[in-house]
Amino acid sequence: MHVATLASEDDFDGWRTAARTLALAGVAPDAVVWQVGDQPADLFADQPAPDAPSGAFSVPRPFVDLARRALCHRDPERFALLYTLLTRIRAQPKLLDDQADPLVRRIEHLAKDVRRDMHKMRAFVRFREIAVDGAEPRYVAWFEPDNHIVRANADFFARRFTTMHWSILTPELSVHWDGDTLAFTPGAHRADAPDGDPLEETWKTYYAAIFNPARVKVGAMTKEMPRKYWKNMLETALVPELLASAQKRESGMIAAAHADIGGNARVSWEALREESGGCTRCPLYGPATQTVFGEGPTDARLMFVGEQPGDQEDIAGRPFVGPAGQVFDRAITAAGIDRARVYVTNAVKHFKFEPRGKRRIHAKPAGPEIDACRWWLDQERVLVRPPVTVALGATAARALLGRVVTISKSRGTAITLPDGGECWVTVHPSYLLRLPDRVQAEEEYARFVEDLTTARNRAEAFA
Ligand code: SF4
Repeated sequence: MHVATLASEDDFDGWRTAARTLALAGVAPDAVVWQVGDQPADLFADQPAPDAPSGAFSVPRPFVDLARRALCHRDPERFALLYTLLTRIRAQPKLLDDQADPLVRRIEHLAKDVRRDMHKMRAFVRFREIAVDGAEPRYVAWFEPDNHIVRANADFFARRFTTMHWSILTPELSVHWDGDTLAFTPGAHRADAPDGDPLEETWKTYYAAIFNPARVKVGAMTKEMPRKYWKNMLETALVPELLASAQKRESGMIAAAHADIGGNARVSWEALREESGGCTRCPLYGPATQTVFGEGPTDARLMFVGEQPGDQEDIAGRPFVGPAGQVFDRAITAAGIDRARVYVTNAVKHFKFEPRGKRRIHAKPAGPEIDACRWWLDQERVLVRPPVTVALGATAARALLGRVVTISKSRGTAITLPDGGECWVTVHPSYLLRLPDRVQAEEEYARFVEDLTTARNRAEAFA
């Protein structure tokens, strides 16, 4: 047995050095014991990792990124799992493409858990001010992450709160920023963090300004905002009061958003897309690979809304790149539309599927999933403000119009959306792929192109 000792639970560099050395020496995964710091090792694990033999090897970049994330998971088996994956990737460089491989899937799940935990930390950390006589104010927050993510997330907070002097205390590791340098100290206790202060009012004011009452589902709040974080959050106390004035506030919020965005729409969109990567508003985030957000210019005059990402979109992280996307690209080109100038998104941002052997078969999103994901679509629409929107299929129409519509009855007529834009309903390109009769498929395709041409003409009228 060989013993590989890492400096800390999130010591990626230490793991990488040890794993490279072990792999070059040809040490089998089951002959390595991984330990952190001075934890007691296995009684039989008495042989240190070998000295580095000469030579080098490279691994695909996606493996390094995946390993860096997965290594922050609390699962004690992660070091060994990653080393096993590394040894297999040396023999099979495209192994990560095999989504059916149990080890690949398990490690991707670890990485996904870590990504989600990092997003939660970014969303739920709340600083409170500590007044120190004669010194710069210091802001302190308490947070309890599920995984070893504090170091991996520190740069984000340093960039975001770069002019503040702050500390984030957690049970395992604390991080401090003095405006110039990040420093790490051992974990702390909740009692070490302050309970309340003037910043509380600032946060409440901020939260009241961004609160979207129409989208709050009180019953679902424990999913969106796990209860364990509630005690650290000042804004939870505001929810009942804000809900009471829901309608009035929503109108004001939308109007303010339109007025404020100005030239910052792209920046806001980037932030929104990043935020969507950690969404847990409905259960679809669980089995899918990643959030597939919309793409396109934020000043597009034409927006296309599809149903949800498919198998290939889920892996690529981009909408409309699979078989239906190819039909879509061909049809918009035939309609004289340049894809680079339109905004393309989906009503639901995660791939819903049923596993069947090695395949993942598309499953239709349910009403509550469409409603949950509408929050993102609404935000995209506030930022892009397209005068013309095309709903590709019934799911998109439901998300945009807030009600179930029949495609055959709604097609060919503009419907006014709540934000004043025009909505044109047509079929989803995947419908064309499913038509077994070739003549009918060609007729339907031509009709689809006609619908797209109408939408293009309408969008051009707003130039
Ligand atoms: S489908 Fe939409 S609402 Fe559901 S988790 Fe994904 S992004 Fe969030």
